[in-house]
Amino acid sequence: MRPEPLFPLFAPVTSLPGVGARLGVLVERVAGPRVVDLLWHLPVGIVDRRYAPAVAEAETGRVATLAVRIDQHQPGEGRRPYRIRCSDATGGITLVFFHARREQMERAYPVGARRVVSGRVERFGEELQMAHPDRVGAPEEAAQIQTVEPVHGLTAGLPPAVLRRAIRAAVERAPQLAEWLDPAHKARQGWPDWHVAIARCHAPEDEGDLRPSFPPRARLAFDELLASQLALHLLRRRQRRATGRPRIGDGRLRQRVLAALPFRLTLSQARSVDEILADMATPTRMLRLLQGDVGSGKTVVALMAMLAAVEAGEQAALMAPTDLLARQHHARIAPLAAAAGLEVGFLSGRDKGKAREATLARLADGSLRLVVGTHALFQDEVQFQGLGLAVIDEQHRFGVHQRLMLARKGDAVDVLVTTATPIPRTLLMTAYGDIDVSRIDGKPPGRQPVTTVTVPAERLDEVTGAVGRAIAGGARVYWVCPLIEESETLDLAAAGERAAALERLFPGQVALVHGRMKGTDRDAAMAAFAGGDRRVLVATTVIEVGVDVPEATVMVVEHAERFGLAQLHQLRGRIGRGDHPSTCILVYAAPLGETAKARLRILRETEDGFVIAEEDLRLRGGGEMLGTRQSGLPDFRLADPAAHADLMQAARDDARLIVDRDPELRGPRGEALRTLLYLFERDAAIRLARAG
Ligand code: ADP
Ligand code: MG
Repeated sequence: MRPEPLFPLFAPVTSLPGVGARLGVLVERVAGPRVVDLLWHLPVGIVDRRYAPAVAEAETGRVATLAVRIDQHQPGEGRRPYRIRCSDATGGITLVFFHARREQMERAYPVGARRVVSGRVERFGEELQMAHPDRVGAPEEAAQIQTVEPVHGLTAGLPPAVLRRAIRAAVERAPQLAEWLDPAHKARQGWPDWHVAIARCHAPEDEGDLRPSFPPRARLAFDELLASQLALHLLRRRQRRATGRPRIGDGRLRQRVLAALPFRLTLSQARSVDEILADMATPTRMLRLLQGDVGSGKTVVALMAMLAAVEAGEQAALMAPTDLLARQHHARIAPLAAAAGLEVGFLSGRDKGKAREATLARLADGSLRLVVGTHALFQDEVQFQGLGLAVIDEQHRFGVHQRLMLARKGDAVDVLVTTATPIPRTLLMTAYGDIDVSRIDGKPPGRQPVTTVTVPAERLDEVTGAVGRAIAGGARVYWVCPLIEESETLDLAAAGERAAALERLFPGQVALVHGRMKGTDRDAAMAAFAGGDRRVLVATTVIEVGVDVPEATVMVVEHAERFGLAQLHQLRGRIGRGDHPSTCILVYAAPLGETAKARLRILRETEDGFVIAEEDLRLRGGGEMLGTRQSGLPDFRLADPAAHADLMQAARDDARLIVDRDPELRGPRGEALRTLLYLFERDAAIRLARAG
C-alpha cells in the first residue's frame, strides 16, 4: 500500500484548485495526470521581473516592472494598434495592444489611475513601448509582480499563468517526508530536505538555479536515480538468490564446432567466451551483457555458451526481437551446430501446425537441445525439459528489462543479453543496475574499413552515377530511404518511389523491402539481393537489424540528417562485412543544423561504436539519447544521465549498500526508502523487498 502522506500527490491534477476538466486535459498533456507529475515539471527558464527602474532609465530589450500613471488612450483604427500613453515623473512610455477592445482597455487602464505593468521594454524611434504587458496590477500589487517568474514547458492552449498556479498548488501539497538519504552524504552535498528542494526548484531566483548542479535540483535527480537503482538492485538480488546451478560443460561440442569454423575466434571473442563460461560455472545465476558492434561476431560467442549449456545436460534458447532476425540467427547457427551433431529448432509466431507441434513436443521431451525464435519462445505452451541458458538478442533495442524475468522458463536459468548498441557505462547502470559485461572490441580480422562521405541532396545524380559504376563493377548497394517522422505510410511511399526511379536507371536490378511487407515477400526480396540477382536493395530502416550480405559494399542513406547517430552507425554496420573496401554515402538536405552537422562529422571520423555512443550522449544530452523510448531505458523526469553521471554512480553505490544491509527495507531508513520507491512508482520493487 502506498503510504498515506503520498495520497494527495497521487490524486488527479483536477483535484487542484483552478484545474477543471478542460484545463486538466492540457495539464496532463504537458506534465502528466497526477499532482506528483506537476512536481516533476521543473521550470526550464525564468523571467526576472525584479528590475523596476524609473521609466526614463528603463533599458530597452529588457523585461522591466514599471510603476506608471495612465495618461491617455488612443484607440486603434484599422490595422493600427490600440495605444495607451503612460508616464512617471521621469518620462513616458506607450503600452501597445493589437486587437484590443476599447471597453476592456478602459476598464483595465482607467485614465488617471496608477498601474504597475511588467513586460519587455522596446524602443521605436524616440518612443519607449511595451507591447502587451505580461502582468498588470494596482500599485499595492507591485510586490507580487516584481518577482522571478518560472517558465515551464507548455502546450498549445494552456496559459502559462494557469500552469504556474497549478504547480504552485501542487508544491503546497508536497508533504514533509521522512528522510531517505544517507545523512552524511546529504550533508556533504549540501542538499536540502525533500520538500524544501521541491519548493526551491519551483522558485528559481536566477539562471543558476536552473543548472543541473543546483543543489536542490541535484537532490531531486539523485532521489530519482536512487529509486531506480534501488529497484534494480532489489530485482537483481532476487535473481541472484533464485540461485542457479553451476553449469560446466566438458567442451566436447564446442571443440567440434570450433574445428568446423572457417576462422579462429579473435582474442576478445575468446575472452568473452571465457567470461561467460566462468559465470555459468558458478552456482549464482548469470546476468551478463555481451556488447559488440554490428558484425563484431557475437553470434559465435553466444553459440559457445549455448553449447556449454548442452554439454552440461541442459537446453539453450536464443531469442531475437524480430522474425527476420530470428530466422537469420537460425540460418547461421544451424549449420555450425550440425558440426556437433546438434539440431536447432525454430519457433516464431508465424509458424503454425504440425511442424510447430513437433518442435514443442521435442523441446518438452528434451530431444531438441537448442532452439532459436522470437517472443513466441516464451509463451506458456512452450515447455522445456531443462532450460539452462537463455540468450536474448536485443540488437539495438537494449534494456527491455522485463525480459530479464523471462528466465522463469527453467530452473534458475542463466541469462546472456547480446546487444549491438555500444552503451556508455552510466547508461548501462541506468538500464540494468548491476550487470556483468563482456565486450567484443573491434571487428573480426580481414575486415576493410568503411569510407563515409556526405553529399548534399542537390547532387543526388552524382550519387546515382556512383551507384551505377559500383554495380557495373559487381558491387551490391543498400539504398536506405528517408525516415519520415511518425508515418509508416509516407515511409513506404517514399521507398516505393525511390525504388521505381532507380529501377528506371538500373532495369532489373532493384529489389525493395519495407516493414509492412509480407514475410515471404520480404524474404524473397532479401534472397534476390543476397544471391546477387538484384544488385540494389531499396529499404526503409528494416535492414538495420540483422541482414548479413558480405558482398554489399555501398550504402546510400537519404536524408541522413533525420537519423540519429546510433541509428546511422547501426545502418552503416551492414556494409564493410566482406573483404572489399566499402563506402557509405550520407545524403543530406541542406541547410544542416549544428547537431546534425556534428553527427555527420562524427560518422565521417570514426567507426568505433563506443566513441559514437559517447558522442551521441554528449550531443543529445540525457533525455533522448539513443532514442531512449524504443530502447527501453527508463525515462527520467528529473535526472539527466549526461549531466548527472556522477550522481548515477553514487546512487548505484548507495543502492548496493542499502540492499546489502537491509534488503527487506525494515530499518528506519528502510521505511523512508519505501516511500521513495512509491514516490517514483517503483511499487513492484517493494514487493520484491517484502519477498526478501
Ligand atoms: P554480430 O552478431 O556481432 O553482428 P556476427 O556474429 O553476425 O556479428 O558476425 C559477423 C560475421 O563475422 C559473420 O559472418 C561471422 O561468420 C564472421 N565472424 C565472426 N567471428 C569471426 C572471426 N573471429 N574471424 C572471422 N570472421 C568472423
Ligand atoms: Mg552461474
